[in-house]
Amino acid sequence: MVSQKLLREGVVAEEDLVGRIPSEERMRQRGFAVTECIQEIPCNPCVAACPFHAISMKDLNAPPVVDFDLCTGCGNCVRYCPGLAIFIIDVSKEEATVTLPYEFLPVPEVGDRVSGLDREGREICTAVVKKVMPGDKYNGTSTITVAVPRDLVMEVRNIKMPEGQRKAGGGGPL
Ligand code: SF4
Ligand code: SF4
Repeated sequence: MVSQKLLREGVVAEEDLVGRIPSEERMRQRGFAVTECIQEIPCNPCVAACPFHAISMKDLNAPPVVDFDLCTGCGNCVRYCPGLAIFIIDVSKEEATVTLPYEFLPVPEVGDRVSGLDREGREICTAVVKKVMPGDKYNGTSTITVAVPRDLVMEVRNIKMPEGQRKAGGGGPL
């Protein structure tokens, strides 16, 4: 059963993520993948992308399930999800981070201060870029890890470069 918000606005709501987030104890241990892929669609690259076999699906149309005992938080699945629906949350260290897929230009650099956006594209905080894995010619999706306020790790789902840092004509996929 998906939320009315998802049905009406296409935006994932907190209730859609029930069962997709590990226990507090597990959260304290290391990062983990959250799959915000709620509706049944015929898709499964995330399953093959996980080197630790942490993602499974009952069948091709079923939503992915993450085994948090196996998930290391490595982030490999993020860039292989065509729906840009996987995020790595890490609250196990002093800085809370979100790793997210990014398909705009220019790709931010480590140390950049960017805006953290919520699922509806609203600016909700300043985020600092901590790690960048640029896309390549085979897969243009970059993965960006940003430090965000701890209470917003389940809210920040995109970033925006400061005005003036986008290339003219940029903003499209790599
Ligand atoms: S973060 Fe790494 S270990 Fe966890 S599900 Fe994704 S690919 Fe697998
Ligand atoms: S690859 Fe992404 S969109 Fe496809 S099933 Fe996995 S999480 Fe969902």
